[in-house]
Amino acid sequence: MGPTTEVIIVGGGFAGVACARELSRRGIRTLIFDKNSYHQFQPLLYQVAASQIGVSEVTRPLRAIFHRTNKVKVFTAEVASIDTANHSVTTTDGHSYRARVLVLANGAEPNFFDTPGAREHTYPLYSVRDATRLGTALVAALNTANNEPEMEHGVRVVVVGGGPTGVEIAGAIAENFRYIVPGYFSPEVAEKCSVHLVDMLPNLLTPFDDKSKAYAVKRLTRMGVKLKLGSGVTEVTPGSLTFADGAHLPADIVVWAGGLKAGKLVGDSGLSLGRGGRVDVTADLKAPGAGGVYVLGDTANMTDARGNTLPQLGSSAQQAGKWAARNIAAELTGNPTKPFKYVDKGYMAMIGRGAAVAELGPKRRLVHGPIAFAAWLAVHLVLLSGWRQRASALFSWAEDFLSHSRSHVVLGRAD
Ligand SMILES: Cc1cc2nc3c(=O)[nH]c(=O)nc-3n(C[C@H](O)[C@H](O)[C@H](O)COP(=O)(O)OP(=O)(O)OC[C@H]3O[C@@H](n4cnc5c(N)ncnc54)[C@H](O)[C@@H]3O)c2cc1C
Repeated sequence: MGPTTEVIIVGGGFAGVACARELSRRGIRTLIFDKNSYHQFQPLLYQVAASQIGVSEVTRPLRAIFHRTNKVKVFTAEVASIDTANHSVTTTDGHSYRARVLVLANGAEPNFFDTPGAREHTYPLYSVRDATRLGTALVAALNTANNEPEMEHGVRVVVVGGGPTGVEIAGAIAENFRYIVPGYFSPEVAEKCSVHLVDMLPNLLTPFDDKSKAYAVKRLTRMGVKLKLGSGVTEVTPGSLTFADGAHLPADIVVWAGGLKAGKLVGDSGLSLGRGGRVDVTADLKAPGAGGVYVLGDTANMTDARGNTLPQLGSSAQQAGKWAARNIAAELTGNPTKPFKYVDKGYMAMIGRGAAVAELGPKRRLVHGPIAFAAWLAVHLVLLSGWRQRASALFSWAEDFLSHSRSHVVLGRAD
């Protein structure tokens, strides 16, 4: 067992970083564990997959985030198990560490809902590795289509899941096929490529207002995305998908944006789990029945003051991280903790060039089109971690907008 510290945080995502920052401001010694040496910015992963921005723009070394404080120690190690009674974690290399308070902020993983073939034959989009793998597969498939002009079809992409992630990646790939592929490959190849967006529900962007849904359908259709809604995917095989209504769709690349669930670490923790395998936390963000254990962000079902479950968003994770740190500081000094007060900033989804939907604030003020597009860019620029990352992303967006060009290469391998 390693040295006892005050707080251990598992996960250096939005929630973990916000929590560690606030703890450090309050002088509380913290160990933050992440299996990666970097913090990754999930909202822009689809742009990495579409070669719109580079990996270095969506990642920042965790040690760079905390290099100015001696209160936060970064451990690059995968946590294999947790002991909620002892507030301890054991890493995959067998070392154990204990603290007075344990914070679980280890995010989520793709939920394939036991769909046969989905895990093996689709590309999820949850990590930088996923994004580079998908981007590499797209470029490889385009190269094949380019080198074999006699092929009847171009690259056939099917995106499963009509939530914000599915809409964003479908729109970005369709834009690439329309604006980038004709110049970088050939107009003949571009014409033969296709993007389908499929969902078991009869509409896209479920939590959004009907007007936002209709706008998304209109813009995606105009960009050439074909929609198949109202029938779930029952099987994925190499080269095709089968649907509950008996239909089949050929596909060279299937992107899985079908949903998320909390990871195995929380599943094996002995904590009682709610929807999506997440922990139904108390109002002050703690695991019920386990003293001194906080569960945050995508790992938790968090609620607002009215008891409504919060969406899995960067801003809810970030706010929860900061709030939990204040409660931890109170707990360590024998003071009462306070129920989480979530500031509802609304929802947004990018559809494509000059097209986005935004529902701002608790009153859900609807904005569509270029204004929502600009708001989306501004919000994501602010959320990004690091000035270099922000400046570089801004440059890439400007380059893309003004010249329809892509300077970024994806670094993964398709196999
Ligand atoms: C493709 C995509 C697009 C999105 N777009 C938006 C958007 O536009 N706006 C928005 O607000 N939200 C968006 N979200 C949601 C948002 O990114 C998440 O809600 C947010 O990242 C949750 O933060 P978190 O800290 O709970 O988890 P994460 O950010 O996922 O962080 C979890 C961390 O834990 C680490 N970890 C996991 N397991 C272990 C382990 N066993 N040991 C050590 N470390 C571990 C991971 O490496 C990761 O760094 C998007 C999500 C996705 C996937």
